Amino acid sequence: MSETRTALVTGAASGIGLAGMRRLAGQGVTVVAVDRDERVVVEAAQAGAEAIVVDLADADAVVGLAAEALRRHGRVDILVNNAGISPHRDGERVPTSGISTADWHAVMGVNLTAPFLLCRDLIEPMRTAGWGRIVNISSRAARAFTRTAGAHYAASKSAVVGFSRVLAGDYGRYGVTVNCIAPGRIQTPLSEQGPAELLASLYDEIPVGRAGTPAEVAAMIAYLASDEAGFVNGAILDINGGGFMP
Ligand code: NAD
Repeated sequence: MSETRTALVTGAASGIGLAGMRRLAGQGVTVVAVDRDERVVVEAAQAGAEAIVVDLADADAVVGLAAEALRRHGRVDILVNNAGISPHRDGERVPTSGISTADWHAVMGVNLTAPFLLCRDLIEPMRTAGWGRIVNISSRAARAFTRTAGAHYAASKSAVVGFSRVLAGDYGRYGVTVNCIAPGRIQTPLSEQGPAELLASLYDEIPVGRAGTPAEVAAMIAYLASDEAGFVNGAILDINGGGFMP
């Protein structure tokens, strides 16, 4: 990269976000690592990144987060909307009839509203600079029916794809690309909810015979965040070991 870029990565205390934060920081990007979990402070320090502890379920706090990032750095060049929740009950998908209104809003708040607000507030400075990369972490649940995703989770991840397309269409001409990654089963605390037999049967359905690793998704994030990916815009990149082949 020709100059030092600044990235904001949400959900950076664990799993895919942690791996993405480490990967970008390792490339010399100035990373602002965001999570509600205070472990992000230690993880960021170890990776040479900054940390901000914030609950992305709080829309006002998300708006404040964007303002703080702009105050510190002038602009954010790379936005990785990764933080997400997928409520389960006894390790199983919550049936639609059992999804409370509160849970519906909780999932939408973290998985959809927070990414939207960060895109809304951080994309204009990217346009002005003539360069920007937004990587939104969606899910295989936005691509096909899965046995593990609840209706709230699938709806939130599908909606992220929808608004990302509009941004990609509006901002591509200004050097700002907006893409989604749709991971299948990746080995993280989020995906390890559930009975061992269910998890084993899910791995059997993946042609490569295993779950993916956070580092493998981080490599895709790093690619989409690079100069080389300038012609990839409005795309959904599947990473699932062949578990979903459209
Ligand atoms: P994870 O649980 O390991 O990490 C998620 C991180 O987000 C955690 O550090 C958590 O503290 C943070 N977070 C959650 N709610 C937050 C909030 N309100 N405010 C701030 N931070 C919050 O999960 P992961 O598997 O790494 O998931 C990362 C993303 O990838 C999520 O959007 C998830 O939906 C998506 N995804 C994961 C898989 C998978 O198999 N692991 C598959 C498809 C999509």
